[in-house]
Amino acid sequence: MLLADRMAHIDSSGIRKVFELARKLKDPINLSIGQPHFAVPIEIQDAAVEAIRGGRNGYALTQGMPVLREKLQAQVDAAWGHDDRRAFVTSGTSGGLVLAMLALVNPGDEVIVFDPYFVMYPALVALAGGKCVYVDTYPDFRIDSEKLRQAITPRTKLILFNSPANPTGHVASAEEIQGVAELAAERGIPLISDEIYRSFCYEPFVSAAKFNPRTIVIDGFSKTYGLTGWRLGYAHGPEEIIEAMTRLQQYTFVCAPQPFQWAGAAALDVDMQAHFDDYRRKRDRIVAGLREDYELAVPGGAFYVFPQVPWGTATEFVGRAIENQLLVIPGGIFSRRDTHFRLSYAADDRTIDRGIDVLQRIARG
Ligand code: PMP
Repeated sequence: MLLADRMAHIDSSGIRKVFELARKLKDPINLSIGQPHFAVPIEIQDAAVEAIRGGRNGYALTQGMPVLREKLQAQVDAAWGHDDRRAFVTSGTSGGLVLAMLALVNPGDEVIVFDPYFVMYPALVALAGGKCVYVDTYPDFRIDSEKLRQAITPRTKLILFNSPANPTGHVASAEEIQGVAELAAERGIPLISDEIYRSFCYEPFVSAAKFNPRTIVIDGFSKTYGLTGWRLGYAHGPEEIIEAMTRLQQYTFVCAPQPFQWAGAAALDVDMQAHFDDYRRKRDRIVAGLREDYELAVPGGAFYVFPQVPWGTATEFVGRAIENQLLVIPGGIFSRRDTHFRLSYAADDRTIDRGIDVLQRIARG
């Protein structure tokens, strides 16, 4: 065998397969994309250009340039006031997730993942040699701490939690989060809270760190500022874990791109609220358009809806959508069930309306 055994667990992303199909369509209605459709604010662009022109193009400090890291640390201290909570800069939120996984999971360890899940989680667990234990959250995607309790075994090494969630848009309530966070604390199991969609929240956002001061928070700039290609994220949590992640970053990602760290520092002063308000309105538009024909848990955040397909499997249904120029992602890519589909409303209203139109037509078979 040429390739390492771990590659058997790492599939080519199903989302990319949909993108491949998309390339063949003439005028696709693309509601498949997991990134904001708005432009990076000009002052953030300017800060990146200024850093590049100013020669700030070398390696950054592993833990992040002080201009950004210190600002993040001050925000984290002001928000939490935890004695033991250190922040550092990662190469995207994905980078933070990779480092956390490698720092915490031994081969054979179990990692609890809520289903549906962000597409990267099972692959990251496999990379560390771990085993996913899934906690099903259908039909309303609420986190049931009793189910979580039942999933915990002596081999459980980590709980991976994400709210607002991809692909469902579900925002966990304070009670749901408290259940997860306190159970993790009680059992001494590390808890990762992926908060990348924190700003896209149409109901109050609560972090697991509120109920469990040892929560490892993974966050980033990709979605909030529409700069997914800049690879800028950060993580904060207990010193011992952050120190281990930083040590690993030295030998893997090395650092997050330096010019974008300067731009990230500028971004922290930019108010993006108008965009989040716009996305809330888009959420309402899509929910109103689909409500009559689809079973749909109204999402409280991110920019996704995750309706149930009205007939067939999700793969069959998405095949029909694509025949009608509409690109959405079958739920089987984010779940052990293939019964729902993910639609991203990070698009202009005209595209959203064309998408609603197709979905209303094909709902009837
Ligand atoms: N976590 C979740 C839940 C996501 O949806 C994404 C991006 N789709 C990421 C992490 C990774 O984001 P980044 O671009 O910061 O690596």
